[in-house]
Amino acid sequence: MGGDVERKSVSPAHAAVDSVATQTQIAEEIDATAHEATDEPKPATATVDVAPHNDERLEAAPSTDDGTTAAATVGEPEANRSVASIRSKVGDDDDSPVLVLAHRKWFRHVMVPRERVEQVAHRYGVTVEDLRTWNGLSGQTQRMRLGSRLRVFTARVPPHREKTAYTVAEGDTWWSVALRHGVDGRDIRAYNYPSRGKMTPGSRLQIWVDPIVHAWITEGGDPLPDDEAFALRRGGLSVGRPDAGWLVNGVRLPKGAGYHLRLPKSAYGSSHAVEQIMIGLTLFRLVSENPHDLELGAMSRARGGELGGHRSHQSGRDLDIRLPRRDGVPSWVELTRRRIDWLTTWHLVQAMLHADATAIFLDYAAQKQLHRAAKAAGVDRKELRRVLQYPDGRSAAGIVRHSPGHEKHMHIRVGCGPYEVECAE
Ligand SMILES: [Zn+2]
Repeated sequence: MGGDVERKSVSPAHAAVDSVATQTQIAEEIDATAHEATDEPKPATATVDVAPHNDERLEAAPSTDDGTTAAATVGEPEANRSVASIRSKVGDDDDSPVLVLAHRKWFRHVMVPRERVEQVAHRYGVTVEDLRTWNGLSGQTQRMRLGSRLRVFTARVPPHREKTAYTVAEGDTWWSVALRHGVDGRDIRAYNYPSRGKMTPGSRLQIWVDPIVHAWITEGGDPLPDDEAFALRRGGLSVGRPDAGWLVNGVRLPKGAGYHLRLPKSAYGSSHAVEQIMIGLTLFRLVSENPHDLELGAMSRARGGELGGHRSHQSGRDLDIRLPRRDGVPSWVELTRRRIDWLTTWHLVQAMLHADATAIFLDYAAQKQLHRAAKAAGVDRKELRRVLQYPDGRSAAGIVRHSPGHEKHMHIRVGCGPYEVECAE
């Protein structure tokens, strides 16, 4: 590979997006195999043009904990990630469209408008603290000047946001344009300041999109493809951690048979989390004979962030469900240990684990009841051990984990979806 960098740009499948300008933002040294991996299948629409980027040189690589990396100073960049490579990844069976290298290397990230330091850390799967240290940033720095460069030492290489131009169509709103691009509507307004009033059809907007998210939203039909099974909208994105994150274009849990939303204003989640919850609820209906509707409590607010009375529930991946009560117990009485249907609770846990629940928080005392009921129903010991902490203590391994205050409801946490580039476990 020579010093020249291949720049690839793609005419997006989405007709409404008329140009995607790729930016050389990562200066990198990607080993041959990884480079080949990104180049594998190219969409038919891909065009390749060549542009030199001799200025892309990383000055000095800071030394790191393992000490081996100081030598990994980046010289000439050898590869540039592009929409083309991402699109090819998105089409793969492979779960994540993010490139993961065998070893960590130094990369340079160029800040795009409205991007926060925290988001950059999540993007590369590094801690915010490390990112600050590598770049000499104080804890106060949230955003940086457009075009500022950050050094990142990582094996996780997502693409950067890219500038797209969008021509406003009849009937568009800030909201609809935001959904179409997987971007927060407030960001779109900010990108296009001062033209933030009513949109005029035919006018052009600049939007910074995440190529992975954008491809995911637009790869189906126009304008917003539905989830096949549950008719859910794509583009609801979890950003950051459940206890320090937010939600972009949150999707509300739909109404459905067998459950009801107690807090519809706090029933928003990422597309992935809502889809997984729906899968769990559907499985639950198939396996249980629960005579009552399940009562779903808080998930997240439409835009995530802090939710009164909860430490987590910030990023659209947490859901509280009241433990199912026995037949004949009215909904208005206080839920006590004896009034809870523990076998049905076990079925609910199992259904959620078949969906992408990465953890279920439930008080240890409640786990004991669950253990007893499941054992009586013939669940084998190995399975009980895999799922529950009981009887090995509240710090034992188990997908169901002790958490104080979860005696009458369980708290389900869904993992990050494959297209949620800035979602952090
Ligand atoms: Zn909760």
